[in-house]
Amino acid sequence: MSLVSTPAPIAPTMRRIIERALDGERLRAGDGHALLRAQGPDLTALVAAAAELNLRARPHRRVTYSRKIFLPLTNLCRDRCGYCTFVKGPRQRGAHTMTPDEVLAVAREGARLGCKEALVSLGDHPELRHPELLATLRDFGGYRSTPEYVAAMCRLVLEETGLLPHTNCGTLSSDEFAMLAPWNASMGIMLESASPRLLEKGGPHHGSFTKAPELRIQTLENAAHAGMAMTTGILIGIGETPEERVNALLVIRDIHERCGNIQEIIIQNFRAKSDTRMKRADEPDTIDMLRTQAIARLLLGPSMNIQSPPNLNADGYQTYLMAGINDWGGISPLTKDFINPEAAWPAIAKLRAMTANAGYELRERLALYPEYVSEGRWPVSPAVRRRIDAFADDDGFVKPTLERW
Ligand code: SF4
Repeated sequence: MSLVSTPAPIAPTMRRIIERALDGERLRAGDGHALLRAQGPDLTALVAAAAELNLRARPHRRVTYSRKIFLPLTNLCRDRCGYCTFVKGPRQRGAHTMTPDEVLAVAREGARLGCKEALVSLGDHPELRHPELLATLRDFGGYRSTPEYVAAMCRLVLEETGLLPHTNCGTLSSDEFAMLAPWNASMGIMLESASPRLLEKGGPHHGSFTKAPELRIQTLENAAHAGMAMTTGILIGIGETPEERVNALLVIRDIHERCGNIQEIIIQNFRAKSDTRMKRADEPDTIDMLRTQAIARLLLGPSMNIQSPPNLNADGYQTYLMAGINDWGGISPLTKDFINPEAAWPAIAKLRAMTANAGYELRERLALYPEYVSEGRWPVSPAVRRRIDAFADDDGFVKPTLERW
């Protein structure tokens, strides 16, 4: 018996779409929707094409991660998403707004452990729902809004520890971006979905005003006007249809083509939390993730950075590399993932070994992606530039002498 079997046939429509993507053609919504049906040999071909596209832009076979600390500046928020365990009411157990001293203590320890990024993550404009927060912010140093406090903490972390802030604080106006831009290497806001349907009663975004897609799109555009490189992405499995998932990827592609400031797209899987409205909702499985990652690669092309967090699929994340992703996101040797507190980060040495086992080399990057650093393609403030220059090698990765395993 021969060990080499004849490859199973691929559906002609699927084959044509995949070949057009490999030829560098820009796929349309109908193509993405057709790819959603990929199963069996079609799925194998789709995933293989995604891996090939990734390697065309990254023949060195590098996969990146950012060594970070996580600063949950406040877990108050004006929204109430159906899957969120992070958010708390002001009088609820676990509600907390970090003081400047707490921020500095964690950042100093992170710097000591070789971290380069400070992920500053918090709820969206919580003072609009909980005005009592304003008194707290005044006590901390006369701050008049959460974004003003965030900007001050980013400055404190950057100036006192040298860590590069990457802030994720929800929707922001142009003026708020102008306040935060001098102290951030990059920032982030997940689009999550482009479907307003999810805000309807019973949906995951019901009662979450800032999850309106147009507000998040506006925020990404405001970021571009402020000269800010952005991380965004989709959260899959929260009730969107497969077609809506593809449509969200295309919305992000459109923003990047118009504004040029999307440095990275996250494909993140929903995880059910026992204290949320969606505690009984099904979670996406690994095959669903691989299909979505591969479609994202075909729609967005070889050069877009595509990330999926390894801690949200501890047993299966290694397979993601087969579907054309090229980044693991931020990993912390010090702080937990406060958004998914049940999901521990992998040890960086283990992540490195798993990545090598799949045939790739793990390299540390900064909060600003290597190509944005090395080509000087994206303007950053002088204070941020000084720290980037201290950390980065000529290719924009972290200098090997500064990497820790
Ligand atoms: S997911 Fe974000 S916006 Fe939604 S409730 Fe939680 S912190 Fe607020």
